[in-house]
Amino acid sequence: MKFLSARFIVVATAIATWQSATAQTTIPLVDIRAVDPTIAVELRYAGANNFSGHALYPPGTTALVRPEVAPRLAAAQAFLRRYQYQLKIWDAYRPTSVQLRLWQLTHKTDYIADPGAGPGSMHSWGIAVDATLTDALNNAVNMPSDFDDFTPAAMLHYQGIDPAVRAHLHLLQRAMAGAGFLGQRTEWWHFTVADWQKYLPKKTVKRVAQGFETRWQSKL
Ligand SMILES: [Zn+2]
Repeated sequence: MKFLSARFIVVATAIATWQSATAQTTIPLVDIRAVDPTIAVELRYAGANNFSGHALYPPGTTALVRPEVAPRLAAAQAFLRRYQYQLKIWDAYRPTSVQLRLWQLTHKTDYIADPGAGPGSMHSWGIAVDATLTDALNNAVNMPSDFDDFTPAAMLHYQGIDPAVRAHLHLLQRAMAGAGFLGQRTEWWHFTVADWQKYLPKKTVKRVAQGFETRWQSKL
């Protein structure tokens, strides 16, 4: 836990303004598997296995991130493979239209960014991924919860007593922190690049920073 408090700083997902989202269509994106084909991808919004019960992405959707982000995922994967584990991506770049749909379906402010209130999602800037661990043969391993589990089990800091789950989560967090990602307080699977400010318009960063201050002063 000492490691986490020192290096694994929590960041909120909702940091991009919805109005700026129109600019996101021009951001450069690469296919994660084109950079590292060993990384498993199971886009949960591309099929029915998500909380909405149906596909939100068109068939053939690939896991995209900004070009600067993919090598970091490759670094996390290399770290994990040393321990006989691997990375699996549940979500990467998420178009703003899908973010809006998620919000309409959930209205969970702690989990999904509310487009009507201004903020968008780091996913829509290509600088966040949702990721979990698999074993060396790409089998699922026990983690605190499933994807998009809107309960306390989804918290960054594991509350349960299963030492295997605790070990898996810590390994994933070590891999991602070491590769330059931040975690998120309410979703253990969500990771944003630590230097996210670099990839957002200056005006947006300023507003986000103000939002952070308010958010964390009131919630921590
Ligand atoms: Zn996420």
